[in-house]
Amino acid sequence: MDLPRKIGSRIGLLGGTFDPVHNGHLAIAARARQSCRLDAVVYIPAANPPHKEPRAISDMRHRRRMLELVCDAGCYVSSLEAERLGPSYSVDTLRTLKDYFPPEAELFFILGTDSFIDLPTWKEPERLLDYANLVVVSRASHDAATIERILALHFPAYRPLDTPNIYRREKGGCAIILLDTEPVPVSATAIRESVRRGKSIRDQVPAAVAAYIEEQGLYRESKK
Ligand code: ATP
Repeated sequence: MDLPRKIGSRIGLLGGTFDPVHNGHLAIAARARQSCRLDAVVYIPAANPPHKEPRAISDMRHRRRMLELVCDAGCYVSSLEAERLGPSYSVDTLRTLKDYFPPEAELFFILGTDSFIDLPTWKEPERLLDYANLVVVSRASHDAATIERILALHFPAYRPLDTPNIYRREKGGCAIILLDTEPVPVSATAIRESVRRGKSIRDQVPAAVAAYIEEQGLYRESKK
């Protein structure tokens, strides 16, 4: 495992392709960190994302390096999904990390609403809550009715018991936390397309990431 075992008692996990990491990712990590009082956030670039459109994803080395460039104190990057063979299922990643960190560490799996809406296509979505709280942060595609439908379909035992945006079971355990935030209208797809067309991406990624993309000549060719 490429992470220290003791990085805090409230640990945020943000999985994604990060091709490249952008301001939307940083915004949801910061929002979750502040609202859920996280001690640390771990970015987990997916080696083989099972539900992404087939396209050639940039080498893990580049995606990892760009994440390292934006990491500040309390922020980590783990390639644990690259170390496993086969597709990267979040439920397997959460189980591995739950077993790895000390038992008292509480995990918070952060995802945008578009990923939450996709949950019915994931492996064992209900089991994610065996290992981590789900922190769902709104994205431009925010759709309250769809979120309600997914909650009812996959998590019928979860209700907003005492706080409107926190869904829990009567018998306790992990929660589903819905965070409303100003959506950041940025996507990695749009960034790759901008680079390919020679347009500036400076307002969408941190300066160090823009410089790295330029130096390495990433995304100049369409890989679709
Ligand atoms: P792509 O455009 O290549 O599909 P992406 O921009 O959606 O990529 P991912 O790396 O797939 O980025 O996203 C990782 C996680 O971050 C997902 O849970 C996704 O919902 C969330 N996310 C990405 N961009 C945003 C954004 N602008 N606002 C909120 N959440 C986001």
